[in-house]
Amino acid sequence: MRLVILGGPGAGKGTQANQLYHMLQIPCISTGDLLRAAISDQTPLGQEARPYVEKGELVRDETMIEFIRKELIAPAMSKGWLLDGYPRTAFQAEELDFLLDELAQLLDWAIYLNVPNDVLMRRSLGRSRSDDRPEIVQRRIDLFHQRTVPILEYYERRQKLLTIDGNQAAEQIQQEILQKLMANPSS
Ligand code: AMP
Repeated sequence: MRLVILGGPGAGKGTQANQLYHMLQIPCISTGDLLRAAISDQTPLGQEARPYVEKGELVRDETMIEFIRKELIAPAMSKGWLLDGYPRTAFQAEELDFLLDELAQLLDWAIYLNVPNDVLMRRSLGRSRSDDRPEIVQRRIDLFHQRTVPILEYYERRQKLLTIDGNQAAEQIQQEILQKLMANPSS
């Protein structure tokens, strides 16, 4: 199974990705977690990403596309995966499709966790990450609408979009995702 999880900051992508990882036993790549680790380890990727992540801006598409490419061509990824926080722009989504074509793989579903803005803000402020300050969260929410929401239509047109009400308890969200995955054999 190959899945991407989309949603604004605080939508619950990480929580759901982690649950799905345990249920489906497929490797999960969280670009946000990997970037934060790269920043704290001061790797070249971390040094490049740091100013963007700290301000709530998106890291350059070229950097992210190259990064995901290296991850997904690894043999351990050939059986399936789950991407948390990628793609986040139309360019990333298109390049992901090109890469999958090249690898003769298919994306099964893009899962969208739909959560109202005020809830995204409240949940993000309940965390204590340095990029969860109010003005930065607001920027991340704005960028989510400008850059990531258009991708929903991209996946909708390809009949790959599963929209889930993300404004409910984590267990219920999990149930809904699993039900929809089972009810909709991917094409
Ligand atoms: P997240 O934990 O997924 O909200 O990501 C935290 C931060 O990492 C974001 O605010 C961006 O600065 C950066 N980031 C994560 N994934 C991407 C991506 N696919 N494209 C660009 N920037 C990203």
